[in-house]
Amino acid sequence: MSEAIQIIGAGLAGSEAAWQLAKRGIAVRLYEMRPETQTAVHQTGDFAELVCSNSLGAEGLETGAGLLKAEMRLLDSLVIKAADATRVSAGKALAVDRKRFAEYITAKLSAHPKITVIRQEVTSLRELSGLVLIATGPLTSPGLAEAIQDLTGEADLYFFDAAAPIVERESLDESVMYWKSRYDDEGPGDYLNVPLNREEYEAFWRELTTAEVVPLAEHDKLILFEGCMPIEELARRGLDTLRFGPLRPVGLEINGHRPWAVLQLRKEDEAGRLLNLVGCQTRLKWGEQKRVFRTLPGFAEAEFVRYGVMHRNTYINSPQLLAEDMSLVSHPEIFFAGQITGVEGYLESAASGLYTALMLARRFAGLPPLIWPAETMLGSLMAYITDRRHTDFQPMNANFGLLPDLPEKIRSKKERKLAKARRSLVVLEHFAKTQNI
Ligand SMILES: Cc1cc2nc3c(=O)[nH]c(=O)nc-3n(C[C@H](O)[C@H](O)[C@H](O)COP(=O)(O)OP(=O)(O)OC[C@H]3O[C@@H](n4cnc5c(N)ncnc54)[C@H](O)[C@@H]3O)c2cc1C
Repeated sequence: MSEAIQIIGAGLAGSEAAWQLAKRGIAVRLYEMRPETQTAVHQTGDFAELVCSNSLGAEGLETGAGLLKAEMRLLDSLVIKAADATRVSAGKALAVDRKRFAEYITAKLSAHPKITVIRQEVTSLRELSGLVLIATGPLTSPGLAEAIQDLTGEADLYFFDAAAPIVERESLDESVMYWKSRYDDEGPGDYLNVPLNREEYEAFWRELTTAEVVPLAEHDKLILFEGCMPIEELARRGLDTLRFGPLRPVGLEINGHRPWAVLQLRKEDEAGRLLNLVGCQTRLKWGEQKRVFRTLPGFAEAEFVRYGVMHRNTYINSPQLLAEDMSLVSHPEIFFAGQITGVEGYLESAASGLYTALMLARRFAGLPPLIWPAETMLGSLMAYITDRRHTDFQPMNANFGLLPDLPEKIRSKKERKLAKARRSLVVLEHFAKTQNI
């Protein structure tokens, strides 16, 4: 086995992974193609460049991002250290001075004696020996994407993310909904259905067609050529288009009555804590999604764990390709981390780099993979993206719907989340101590 672990991509995930391995005394060769070869959105040659917002999300422990940060802090994350050192005030969020943040990480990694930085685009995996970590992100260069496709097969590498919003089931008023699969009168069925009368449907249609959408970036324009239509575009074609399309009520009669239109919700996880709004892939601005979908019956208090997006995003079909340690089942010496595995967001990408580095360190030492506790945000997110049962995989971010229920009932939503967060940190601390992490 080669003496160094090869990491491709010094973004959020690759930088965190390089740091975690190097601080454990493992040599790393870190390949980064910038600044010579740029992506469509990066501007500099710095590592861990934040390409859009300068925020790593909320800090409160009752939020998915807040708990994930606390867990990463506990595991000595470089990305969190850099964020703490370069933070700018942003209310309850952790926002950073993006230039100083990326410079901090670049300096730390470049100065580390165990890390060799190689400014080069990797286009073939054959050149690399030993353990390899691919962390090239949503804008993986086309040459490498082709090499990955050779490994995974064409059908398991995606170039666009066209996702519908996902809501927490417990935030909905189910008394105005019913479970039924289309044309299945035996029941109870796999879909939670939201019936709309004519007035409700037309009000929803008006909101949808007049809400603000995200401007289409140049590198995203291809999406629309793919024939993948956002729900608001579809709605603009006519008042009844949705009623004969994704919101069609046929086969969803209830008590012998067919509603004017029906929005279906599909379970996103086995326990059914997360529900996907079927057919509602959208380019509406996030605030607008919340406002518009909350006008639906039973949605007044809906909590969105993921908003709909339609953008360029290279990611693999992780549930079918990756083992729990993030290595390819078909090529166990090749690991993946970051957004390319189907986690979504700066923080999640960095967290995924951290997790995978710990798995790589185990493999490097000839040890079996760690069995990460499911009560932690990091463990449950990684378990989600490698769960074989996800046959229609779409990227996921950190949220409380991923965590197992508490043994006790707590009425207040915030208190319930805080109790789960406290449980996670206790479990993680014990795990880190006993596993020598
Ligand atoms: C336009 C856009 C806007 C986004 N905005 C946000 C946002 O506001 N907030 C948020 O939380 N998330 C956002 N994301 C999502 C995502 O969290 C970030 O893209 C994040 O940077 C992903 O981390 P990563 O480490 O997986 O990839 P990256 O940070 O992109 O790192 C990958 C690295 O690999 C390098 N690379 C690529 N190919 C090769 C190759 N062949 N050889 C060598 N190096 C290579 C790249 O240059 C890059 O440095 C956005 C994504 C995009 C595309």
